Amino acid sequence: MTSLLDILAEADRLPTVTLDGGDDGGEQPTGPWGLVIGVRAESGRPVVVDPHARLDPATREALTGSLETLAEDWKGVAVIVAAPAGSLYDFFTLTALDDADPAADATVRLRRAAGSAARASTRVAALTFALPVDSAAEVRAIIEGALLGGYSYPGIHRPGADASTLRTVQIDVIVGSTQADDADVTAAIVAARSTRLARTLIDLPPNLLYPSSFAKVAEELAGAEGLDVHIRDADALRAEGFGGLIGVGQGSEHEPALVRVDYVPEAPARAHLAFVGKGITYDAGGINLKLSEQDYMNFDMSGAAAVLAAVLACARLRLPVRVTAWMALAENVPSGTSQRPSDVITLFDGTTVEVRDTDAEGRLVLADAIVAATAEHPDIVVDIATLTGAQQIGLGDRVSALMANDDNLAHDLAGLATSADERVWRMPLTVDLAEGLRSRVADIANKADRPGGMLTAALFLEHFVSRAEHVPRWAHLDICGPAINRKKPYGFTPLGGTGVGGRTLLALAQHVSG
Ligand code: MN
Ligand code: MN
Repeated sequence: MTSLLDILAEADRLPTVTLDGGDDGGEQPTGPWGLVIGVRAESGRPVVVDPHARLDPATREALTGSLETLAEDWKGVAVIVAAPAGSLYDFFTLTALDDADPAADATVRLRRAAGSAARASTRVAALTFALPVDSAAEVRAIIEGALLGGYSYPGIHRPGADASTLRTVQIDVIVGSTQADDADVTAAIVAARSTRLARTLIDLPPNLLYPSSFAKVAEELAGAEGLDVHIRDADALRAEGFGGLIGVGQGSEHEPALVRVDYVPEAPARAHLAFVGKGITYDAGGINLKLSEQDYMNFDMSGAAAVLAAVLACARLRLPVRVTAWMALAENVPSGTSQRPSDVITLFDGTTVEVRDTDAEGRLVLADAIVAATAEHPDIVVDIATLTGAQQIGLGDRVSALMANDDNLAHDLAGLATSADERVWRMPLTVDLAEGLRSRVADIANKADRPGGMLTAALFLEHFVSRAEHVPRWAHLDICGPAINRKKPYGFTPLGGTGVGGRTLLALAQHVSG
């Protein structure tokens, strides 16, 4: 059995990325070499866009002609066209620069176009991106799109199986006169790497990735970056009174864990951010067993994957901001030792909770972790979780929900998430709905009526934020729908775990860093 770290290392094998500002086309690669060219509509007809003059007139004409024969709905897709004899390249990847989404600015469109191109260009040795760029941000977006679109989950295979055809791919981005430099390349690679890590963690099966093995992975990866890692196992959680994590995890042979990864910059920290992630490695619902839709329920640790990915990225970029990531890990399954509906448990801050529904478990483990996080008096707390099916019903699979106790933080996060192409929509913390969480037998119940289920879950968390000695600026991201792509790949997003949220958290840390 390959170890988790081996699988993660394979998924982390990245192509080399170089910036190409000259006309010489760089070094000739040994193997299939593709040139990525943009396509845009002009007067309703597709035309090739060649800002760097990489095509000779005859080739440009041939490509323009081949566009006519492409699928009618060519927007948002990328296609491969064989290069004519005598060309420097073996093939061209034509990728659509137009996007029907009015929220997508040029940077977002380029990231998507590069992602579609990389996804379409299988079995290549090198790809050169000759897309129109005007800024360093757009160059970073192309690199991110290329590395994210080129990602695929390596899977678990028998020893010796020739499963991976992953080869060294070289990505050259033609930058023209933009001010992009090596620091931009590094920033883009680190951002893409973090999303790829989160995707791999999400796609790992729950019999291999469970709380203690997830904690070990975090310890290894964070340890390699020199970060301080502290793991509370079930004994420590019980002794210290983390009743949410213990209650949710007590039905499983895999005991719960709370992992804290702390990045303290060498330079004076401009602020202290705490990222708290829901890490249910499998959610069967517990005694309130889910009657359907149990497939993909290993994705319920996507929030924990995002916060781990984000803190690693902040450390790799040496951002002058302190980031503490908290991963609340448990498996929620039914058994004779599981917590029951009607149980009353005591969370880390002493609040008693009536467990009305064991399938509303994420907020129990998150509340424990949020209390532990706020006790360190961070300036900002952001929690991220595949928290409610109501989020998916309300906003679908492409837009996450954002709730916050601070308008400026909400505004910043929404903008940063849009730029990262991890869109969010702000939802209200409507106080009147909190009445539904009143309990006759405990301080609060873990579930209210069905209407507004996304909001009452957030109100439950806010109860714990607002009781902190120093109430931080706080935001809550419910990523239930966008965390996993069940339908078909698009842009830079593959099937399976999307890794959504991690680059938004990284962008917040970069924003706070100034
Ligand atoms: Mn659940
Ligand atoms: Mn869940």
